[in-house]
Amino acid sequence: MKLLIATHNQHKLKEFREILAPLGYEILGADDVGLSDCEETGQTFHENSFQKAKYAVLQTGLPTLADDSGLCIHALNNEPGIFSARFAQQNGGYPAVFNVIWQKLEPFSDWSAHFNCCLCLLNPENTEKPVYFEGQVYGHITKDKDDSMDKFGYDPIFVPDGYDCPFGGLSNDVKNQLSHRARALEKLVAYLKLDKQ
Ligand code: IMP
Repeated sequence: MKLLIATHNQHKLKEFREILAPLGYEILGADDVGLSDCEETGQTFHENSFQKAKYAVLQTGLPTLADDSGLCIHALNNEPGIFSARFAQQNGGYPAVFNVIWQKLEPFSDWSAHFNCCLCLLNPENTEKPVYFEGQVYGHITKDKDDSMDKFGYDPIFVPDGYDCPFGGLSNDVKNQLSHRARALEKLVAYLKLDKQ
């Protein structure tokens, strides 16, 4: 069965493909089907993931999985949250945006944060009945930036709980076991397996 992953992000696509292909799905990415970018106007991770999934289903007629994710910094009222990608763009991209975050956090002693991922599964037969799967990973922001391994987004400045180096310094394998996306995907896989029985 074909499953479209509504993302142009190759990091995300690789992760989804590795986990879902063994279940027998033929995984297609947004580039494989010429899917254009969808405007994100939602106020929550759920709204944005649904918006992306619906846009893709209407364009392609394929069952679709869309994700919306972001970094939530607790002392900053969970900012940048759903605006994580846009916040980076508006502040000079990575790594320039890290300086902006460090400056904003200067008055606070609590630098705790989490990544959130919301997955939305939508079928062309019923575009008003999304199924959601969510995952989080908790940790804190560090000034000891480590971008030695994977340099995706805010990876260099986020240290997951139980580790003493940022996502940026961990191998893909380790990150993929504990990330917000991996945790949401675990729930999706359990659902797909049940659905197949
Ligand atoms: P989206 O593609 O609209 O969901 O935007 C997600 C944004 O959140 C990315 O562009 C990154 O800025 C940030 N983000 C989400 N997941 C991660 C991650 O695993 N590592 C680092 N940054 C992430």
